[in-house]
Amino acid sequence: MVLPRDQHFVHRANRDGTTDSICKHCFVTVCTSIWETDLARAERGHVCDPDTVAHWNKISGNEAGDTSGRRTHMPKRSG
Ligand SMILES: [Zn+2]
Repeated sequence: MVLPRDQHFVHRANRDGTTDSICKHCFVTVCTSIWETDLARAERGHVCDPDTVAHWNKISGNEAGDTSGRRTHMPKRSG
């Protein structure tokens, strides 16, 4: 699955002014920088490690590898 970059990575601001770019599929921090261009370059070059993705899918109970964000445990409101 190919996602646009802004859906594939989440940015986390650090106290020291740097920003972490974290892959939403393999949860690897692909880059830490104060420069958006550095983050973008690292994100473009990032390739998920299939073993790492499989590991997280297994932990999350999503062994089919479905990363579409489908929720199966949504609480139902009654009344
Ligand atoms: Zn990744």
